[in-house]
Amino acid sequence: MLNIVLFGPPGAGKGTQSEKILKKYHLTHISTGDLFRLHKQENTELGQLAQKYMDEGNLVPDEVVIRMVEAKINSSQEAKGFIFDGFPRTVGQAAALDEMLAKKNIPIKAMIALDVEEEELKKRILNRAKTSGRVDDQDEEKINNRIRVYREETLPVADYYRQQGKFHDIHGIGTIDGIFDKICEVIDQL
Ligand code: ADP
Repeated sequence: MLNIVLFGPPGAGKGTQSEKILKKYHLTHISTGDLFRLHKQENTELGQLAQKYMDEGNLVPDEVVIRMVEAKINSSQEAKGFIFDGFPRTVGQAAALDEMLAKKNIPIKAMIALDVEEEELKKRILNRAKTSGRVDDQDEEKINNRIRVYREETLPVADYYRQQGKFHDIHGIGTIDGIFDKICEVIDQL
């Protein structure tokens, strides 16, 4: 099973590249941001709980995220592999994911990290704000908070996978197809 963690700061292009990866390699997408937005749309209890964290650009508590991901994995029996997008976002989530996948004997093969400079991230998110309708894309203070949360809470997850020898770094600037080609080179060597 090909299980990949796609990693990077907000605005790095994880969503865009995930779409291309899952089509080419026939993987199942698990985007925790998308799942939470779906819950919000459907006004579920989980959606209501997540909303206040998301709107400010803070992380939803680990146990909530982990439960949601576990349910999604369990309901995807036909999956040939998973692409995790926006998850794990803390070392606690990474450890919980390893434990979950170890029980099923389907470990993570690789983390692919998209590296993009901060100024470019802000530009991309403010541009996306025009069409995304996302509260957390709309003002610079919220975007700055998301980038700060990324640096403080999420960046250590890269070391977690580095220690397991699974870390691959890709420069996320250039054309969408150019970046995708670099991602495919990594995947094809796994
Ligand atoms: P981004 O563009 O910031 O990468 P996402 O769509 O991945 O956006 O996530 C949007 C928001 O959803 C986050 O700011 C956070 O509040 C919440 N969220 C998504 N994934 C996680 C996660 N793995 N752990 C905690 N919170 C999460």
